[in-house]
Amino acid sequence: MGRAVPTMAVAVATTADARPSGPRRSSGSHHPKRAVLLEKLGIRSPADAVLHLPYRYEDETRLTPIAAAPDGSPVLIEAAVQAVEVKYRPRRQLAVTVRDESGFAVLRFFSFYPSLVAALNAAQEAGHRVRAFGEVRGGFFGAEIVHPRIRVLRGAEPLPAALTPVYPSVAGLGQAVIRAWVAHGLAEADLRDSLSAAQRHRLDLWEFATALRTLHQPPPGIDAVALAERRHPAWRRIKFDELLAQQLMMREHYRARRARRAPALSGAPVLSQRLMERLPFELTAAQRRVWAEIGAEIGQSHPMNRLLQGDVGSGKTIVAALAALRAVESGYQAAVMAPTEVLAAQHERKFREWLEPLGVRVVRLSGTQKRAERRAALAELQSGAAALAIGTHALFQEAVGFQRLGLAIVDEQHRFGVRQRLALREKGAGASLAADTPGREAVPGLEPHLLMMSATPIPRTLAMSHYADLDVSVIDALPPGRTPVRTKLIAEGRRAEVILRMREVCAAGEQVYWVCPLIEESEALDLQTVVAAHADLSAALPGIQVGLLHGRLPAPEKAAVIEAFVAGRIQVLVATTVVEVGVDVPNASLMVIEHAERFGLAQIHQLRGRVGRGRAASTCILLYQTPLSENGRARLKILFENTDGFRIAQADLDLRGPGELLGVRQSGVPLLRFADLATDGDLLEEARATADALLEEDPARVRMHLARWSGSAAALLTV
Ligand code: ADP
Ligand code: MG
Repeated sequence: MGRAVPTMAVAVATTADARPSGPRRSSGSHHPKRAVLLEKLGIRSPADAVLHLPYRYEDETRLTPIAAAPDGSPVLIEAAVQAVEVKYRPRRQLAVTVRDESGFAVLRFFSFYPSLVAALNAAQEAGHRVRAFGEVRGGFFGAEIVHPRIRVLRGAEPLPAALTPVYPSVAGLGQAVIRAWVAHGLAEADLRDSLSAAQRHRLDLWEFATALRTLHQPPPGIDAVALAERRHPAWRRIKFDELLAQQLMMREHYRARRARRAPALSGAPVLSQRLMERLPFELTAAQRRVWAEIGAEIGQSHPMNRLLQGDVGSGKTIVAALAALRAVESGYQAAVMAPTEVLAAQHERKFREWLEPLGVRVVRLSGTQKRAERRAALAELQSGAAALAIGTHALFQEAVGFQRLGLAIVDEQHRFGVRQRLALREKGAGASLAADTPGREAVPGLEPHLLMMSATPIPRTLAMSHYADLDVSVIDALPPGRTPVRTKLIAEGRRAEVILRMREVCAAGEQVYWVCPLIEESEALDLQTVVAAHADLSAALPGIQVGLLHGRLPAPEKAAVIEAFVAGRIQVLVATTVVEVGVDVPNASLMVIEHAERFGLAQIHQLRGRVGRGRAASTCILLYQTPLSENGRARLKILFENTDGFRIAQADLDLRGPGELLGVRQSGVPLLRFADLATDGDLLEEARATADALLEEDPARVRMHLARWSGSAAALLTV
């Protein structure tokens, strides 16, 4: 408990005697450890230091009489030292009795250095008063403050005029050191404004230097609440600048890519037209719109880098197939990359069904296929005999040579790890698919277009922020004739009823998914859970075929299980979240999600999208463990009440923050430090517009701004 506190007390006790003489003395070779600690906070230069902003403030501008201190809120008291005692019972502690005009208080330290005892003894002898900052509590022996920040006064010292900033820190680095570094930064760093006066005026933003000084040294009388809640205009300016840096970097990237060259896929739309005519359904208006957007862009000679978003089941695959055909009818090849073998196999089925009647040769590259088979597929791609390749990511990392790759399609792009996505981006999007391959030479100087697809609906602000270097197309309506999935929340204790229900569904000739949660800490435990659930359900459902699917089944077995489920030979499929992506079995009308409280909302929404694909009315049962936390209940309720993925994503963003939603939290990549996408959407829109204008008109200001924020901005390039 409170390990940081003693360090704080000591740091303050020592600075009572000598104020830190500034980082110049302390930054040299005397303090290599300190430099390492500062580095941990991202402070390497004066410019970094000024952007290390307080996370809260303490009010030491006023003294509170001991007797008048409200219980439980921090105050500053000033008092004379009456007694200094080190006690050993009930545990070792330093108890300092102090007194002001209104009464007594005991300052209690359970962890302290001898230097503090000495300083307080000296203060008592000399009659020096102390100032202590902390929460006064009415204890058994009267008022007391546990682990106050304490400071011995030498004479009449004025109170600080400003609120005291408290900075994010790491163990071993006291506030005083950070404050000294910040003061140094404010004196040394270049604080010129990267926005013109006219821009500031138009955006109603404070000057940069003024905003910074206000946040580090809030003047007396400042609106402390607005400051604490980060609504103050000073915060607004800093948040804007952070968002602007992000937008500048990503938009610059966007522009650079558009300056490169790609093959214009503008052949006569013969095949794509024929596919559309042959489909058993009509494209929805939303599908037609995004297809027009995509078709127009790949017809141009700069590489497309576009995210196609659409709720699960919205029909993205057919749009991808049309784009692939457009490449083929323009004389180029296309590649489709899926995150799992299961999904790759399903794509293979669909694309063959759609494209082969049109005379387009499709090959699959799979981690499990025989060597000869694979070699043949590679040869066909190399010679151009095959026009379309389908496979998982790993396959494209090896040297897969294309004769003329014109379009790369990445399905379920959010499922690819941060690292893979970074690689994609660093190599200039599509280039990464072909960078190491002879196929690139075949089309000298040209890189393929890139179409990414995702069913994770992303709230507009998040998309604007994190996909600022992409173009985004959205399919915002589902195909007609879908019966909405009913969602039920059922406590784990009512499992027997759920099993009864499963029996009925199977008796009606329909099928069931049973999804077990992924246990992140332990893959072994994860496996155990799903295997146990499979055994349980097999026993509870005599006469019903129960299949088992999880990530660590060998690929051929996985494929066999899926195939059996597709064909209806298995009626109940017990699976981990591997079924989350892509699996399309319209006859499945019931999904049970065990331990639903452990899942992300967006993830449940994805899972739920596996049912409700056929004619039958479908149900998704969220089984939860009791007791359910307040937050857990709120989250499940959102799923119960909403079927729109974008709404759910927005709610998820509000509840969990962007890291979870984008799946980057685990990677440790920091997102925005100051701006909050849930509340600062308006600033983001302004930052985007300003970024585009600055890039157009004022490269010098762009450089200046990016240099200032470079440390943070590089980390923003996450997806
Ligand atoms: P997702 O966007 O989740 O990838 P899919 O592309 O797998 O969705 O499409 C889901 C299902 O909807 C598929 O069975 C597909 O054939 C069907 N589908 C797609 N577009 C339409 C449409 N316009 N009308 C009817 N069904 C459609
Ligand atoms: Mg899909």
